[in-house]
Amino acid sequence: MNSSVRTNGVVAVSDSTEAIVAELRRRSSFMFVSHVKPDGDTLGAGLALGLALKQLGKRVGYFQQDPVPRNLRFLPDAQHVAREVPGDLPADTLWVFCDMSDFTRAGEFLPEIARENMLDIDHHLGNSHFGGLNYVIPTEASTGTCVLRLLKALGTTLTPDIATCILTTIMTDTGAFMHTNTTSEVLRMSAEMIELGADKPLITEEIFANKRFAAIKLLGMALERAVLQDDGRYCWTYVDEEMLRAADADGEDTEEIVQHLRSVDGVEAAALFKDYEGAVRVSLRSSGRVNVQAAAASLNGGGHFMASGLTFEGGLPGAIEAVHTALHAQGL
Ligand code: AMP
Ligand code: MN
Ligand code: MN
Repeated sequence: MNSSVRTNGVVAVSDSTEAIVAELRRRSSFMFVSHVKPDGDTLGAGLALGLALKQLGKRVGYFQQDPVPRNLRFLPDAQHVAREVPGDLPADTLWVFCDMSDFTRAGEFLPEIARENMLDIDHHLGNSHFGGLNYVIPTEASTGTCVLRLLKALGTTLTPDIATCILTTIMTDTGAFMHTNTTSEVLRMSAEMIELGADKPLITEEIFANKRFAAIKLLGMALERAVLQDDGRYCWTYVDEEMLRAADADGEDTEEIVQHLRSVDGVEAAALFKDYEGAVRVSLRSSGRVNVQAAAASLNGGGHFMASGLTFEGGLPGAIEAVHTALHAQGL
């Protein structure tokens, strides 16, 4: 594998599967790091590789700044995900960052880590290749499918637990096989995971079916406030602290709102403005024509062509204005 991407005008070449596997074999200790506001891809990818490395007798830890979201606590080994870094890590510990275009997406509480001790496994456009080793494949549907390539080369057993983790990454990042990244190869990999014992009914139930009443109430409030503009091509809404309080909801309950906006007939770009916790975080979605990754990147965010995000320091009206302008620059 020799996937290359353009980062700031420089062509960055991803390291080979063989080079990554050799490094995984060489190290004795691993810390897996998920991005802030973790999703099924960042967590599932790390847990899958962590479970495999445990088969080789390696020391494995998982770190993330935020708690494991309620709907991901079913994931095998999720009970071992910690919000603190162990004090007794061996010097040869490899820090494995899953599903983030830069390590700054891991948050504010990481210790200083030498680049040579960082492995970057990801599928985002515009990944900064921040690791000593980088396994970055933007054509992959999820970071978990990048990990699956490594697992096959590593030769460890693909257990039912590992298969559940990998299938979770796929179902998360394809919107349960709805998004355009659901290629025939992705479906083949998913079938293989189910044959290996992945618990698809459990994933469906936990991530896509089980909704808190608070989330449904909040969805109603957000949809009531939705705005359709640009001749019906742009739909946006917001959630603020008062709405969270009124619905007895929290940030985890906002997850599905933006896809409802995007599903409106004729909408080409959708935005959800999350105005709480001291900043405005924005989720952007595209229907295929407008590049929301580029729009987010122009405001210091990132993501994928069809799904991206950013954090705006400067209040809700400013965020609404800036995002509208950024989307117009992408042809909205
Ligand atoms: P979300 O809307 O939070 O589900 O995020 C959609 C996509 O955008 C994911 O691929 C995220 O990794 C990415 N993303 C979200 N927020 C940011 C950010 N502040 N900076 C870079 N990428 C982001
Ligand atoms: Mn993610
Ligand atoms: Mn992902």
